Amino acid sequence: MNIHEYQAKALLRDYGAPVSDGVAVTRAADAKNAASQLDGPLWVVKAQIHAGGRGKGSFKEAEAGEKGGVRLAKSVEEAAEEAAKMLGNTLVTHQTGPAGKQVNRIYIEDGSGIERELYLALLVDRATSRVGFVCSTEGGMDIEEVAASTPEKIISFDVDPATGFQPWHGRRVAFALGLEGAQVKQCVALMGKLYRAFTEKDMEMLEINPLIVTDGGDLKVLDAKVGFDGNAIYRHKDITELRDETEEDPKELAASKYDLNYIALDGEIGCMVNGAGLAMATMDIIKLYGAEPANFLDVGGGATKEKVTEAFKIITSDPNVKGILVNIFGGIMRCDVIAEGVVAAVKEVGLEVPLVVRLEGTNVEKGKAIINESGLDVVAADDLKDGAQKIVKAVKG
Ligand code: GDP
Ligand code: MN
Repeated sequence: MNIHEYQAKALLRDYGAPVSDGVAVTRAADAKNAASQLDGPLWVVKAQIHAGGRGKGSFKEAEAGEKGGVRLAKSVEEAAEEAAKMLGNTLVTHQTGPAGKQVNRIYIEDGSGIERELYLALLVDRATSRVGFVCSTEGGMDIEEVAASTPEKIISFDVDPATGFQPWHGRRVAFALGLEGAQVKQCVALMGKLYRAFTEKDMEMLEINPLIVTDGGDLKVLDAKVGFDGNAIYRHKDITELRDETEEDPKELAASKYDLNYIALDGEIGCMVNGAGLAMATMDIIKLYGAEPANFLDVGGGATKEKVTEAFKIITSDPNVKGILVNIFGGIMRCDVIAEGVVAAVKEVGLEVPLVVRLEGTNVEKGKAIINESGLDVVAADDLKDGAQKIVKAVKG
């Protein structure tokens, strides 16, 4: 689960990390008042979306102006104007995909004078099963590009959970970032706070790009991107409340409420499958016959009729779906339950695209009978290959 920059900064502020003062607004009418609560003489007006690269991004609408999603302003009035231009418009960055994301919230921040922009991240290193630090003197820019062109400028190391964070970890970061004098002490303190926030809140990623040295020579968190481990979120009621459902794919959101393993993709064939392995194989074979899957969906072993109905509704709500392939191998899952779910869903939402159903396994005859007696316009398939060929043919002609 991801949160917005302004929420991440509030959280880090609670842990004692140095961040600028700022106010978040959702209405243009509130922007001037918000900006006037900050000292100036520089204001930063920042689009709040769950994607990075905002500074270098661009808006789809001309009224938003030429600048990206992070704008500097020299007065309260200018800050309010820039906020108004961005609100409600669509920001496209290299992380949003071509569709972009609508900006529903703006964070107005007290601007900082910058001497150096650095990169810092904490993450879970899957190879070592430890929390690691990643740092670089090349902050403010695309870290992926630094990694590709000058990998020697990225320094990383892990923390042994038996010792936890130690001051020398902080000094190691300070050395890697080329910090001096009082900054080293600030760095050790800040890294300790970030490590504590990371572990206490079950974060998956904490990226600060840039971490800056201000013109006054102090360290400051200028941007913050935080992701939490979804499997641990039940332990953090305060974090759950930060969830912004408007930032999530509505289909994935609906699926999560019914505990379905669903990932939206951008192809044209909707897939309803049981078992992650069979779901992957189904996606592969659809590709093999020349089409693209619209989703990954594993309805799971113990799916009820209601769950199957919901899954089917989620698939049909995707306007990109031009055909649906139901591919069920009933081991634990019973074919009649799947058939009942499909029939119930079609009765509720209708069926405007071709539907191919392949059922095999437990209660297969019962399942087939339910579908045949329903009067639905369903194409029956004998096996995985037959099913994939039939649905691709139905969609592509
Ligand atoms: P991102 O583009 O989504 O990663 O957004 P950032 O918060 O990282 O901002 C992008 C860039 O805007 C930073 O790398 C800085 O160069 C600049 N910027 C952000 N905040 C300030 C600020 O307070 N003062 C100045 N001078 N520049 C800023
Ligand atoms: Mn950034």
